[in-house]
Formats: sequence, structure tokens, C-alpha cells
Amino acid sequence: MQGLLFDDQQPIAPREKNPVAATADLAQLFERAKSCHQCSLAGSRLNFVFGEGDPAAHLVVIGEAPGAEEDASGRPFVGRSGQLLDKILLAAGFQREEVYICNILKCRPPGNRNPLSDEILSCMPWLLQQLQIVKPKVILMLGKVAANTILDNTLSLGSMRGKLIRWKGYDCFITYHPAALLRNPNWKRGCWEDIQAMMRHYASISGQEPERENREHP
Ligand code: URA
Repeated sequence: MQGLLFDDQQPIAPREKNPVAATADLAQLFERAKSCHQCSLAGSRLNFVFGEGDPAAHLVVIGEAPGAEEDASGRPFVGRSGQLLDKILLAAGFQREEVYICNILKCRPPGNRNPLSDEILSCMPWLLQQLQIVKPKVILMLGKVAANTILDNTLSLGSMRGKLIRWKGYDCFITYHPAALLRNPNWKRGCWEDIQAMMRHYASISGQEPERENREHP
């Protein structure tokens, strides 16, 4: 059954949203997922970091994997990267609670190393089911590792950033991971350009005027 979720021949068509059903479906998925032992990360995790936000969000943000603070709290993006992500979202016009935030891996890899292929294989079905429930209009992927993993490619971040990429029927945008921006603040301007491109697309598919074009980057 889960194998079907990997089938690129079966795009996930955006459907009408039902926030009540989405809330219940996500809660049910969390109950099934939270005791997952499909990879070795289950043995070292403090918490399973499922994801949080609006179950019927128009924007889903996907990072790589929980870090130490996320592992300790059970919530995605709550450390320094998370604080910067909150600022980026606010500048784009979204409160954190209005979007849905999650990661590819739901458990922290030791020492925050990159996800291994067996971990990705085990964990991707949870992410794909989350997306099927939330049905976002737009997905924002944070960083090269997240984008390469989800899109199953080895392209450079530079070649993927700031443009519309279709994946399984979803409209996706890719930008720098906030942790990279903390290390290299001079990349923030490029990130803001990526976010503005995403906002323009979001406005165009929502039938809205693009707002906040003249805002300063966070
Ligand atoms: N980095 C991520 O990719 N995800 C988190 O939740 C926190 C840091």
C-alpha cells in the first residue's frame, strides 16, 4: 500500500480541503507514526518529531531532520534555525501557526548527520501521507539535502532555488536551509528573492495581488 505512495505515475491531485477531516486524519496518522521503529533512529530519539501547524495549511515547509532542540521538545524548527524560519515566514506574510512545518526524517540523526538512504526510505511514507492530508497549494523545501532527497536528484541548490518545481502534482519552491543562513548571513538576500518568487506564485494561484513585494528581507 505504501509502495504506491512512491509511484511517480500517480500524481496527488489537489482536492477540496476539509479542515475538520484533515485535523482528524493527521491526528490518526500521528498515532500510527509516533512509535515507528522502522529504522535505527528510533533507538536514539528522545521524541518523534511529527510536524505541526495548520492541518489544512496552504503552505507546507519541509526541512531535513530534527536537531537537538527539536528532539528534546518533539516540535520541528524550534531552535535557532526555527527562529529564523519564523522570521522568514512572517516576512512572507505567514504566521507560523498558519503553515504546516515538518521534516523528511521524524527522528534526530546522531550528531545531526545527513539522513541515510534506509532512514529516508523508512520515513518518506509518513511525509507523503502528511502531504496527502494537508493538501498544500505550495511546498517550500529548505536546503539542498531536503530538496535532493525529496526530488531524488543530485542537482545543486543554485540550480533549484527560487523557481517553480512540480513534484507529484505539488507546486514546490526551494531555498536555503535557515541553518545555512545563520552560517552565511550574506545568503539571506538570495533566500528572500526565493521567498518572493514563491509568494508571487502563491498569489497567482490564489487569485490575489502579490503583497509585501517591497518588504525588507528578514
Ligand atoms: N533543521 C531541520 O531541518 N529541521 C528542524 O526541525 C530543525 C532544524
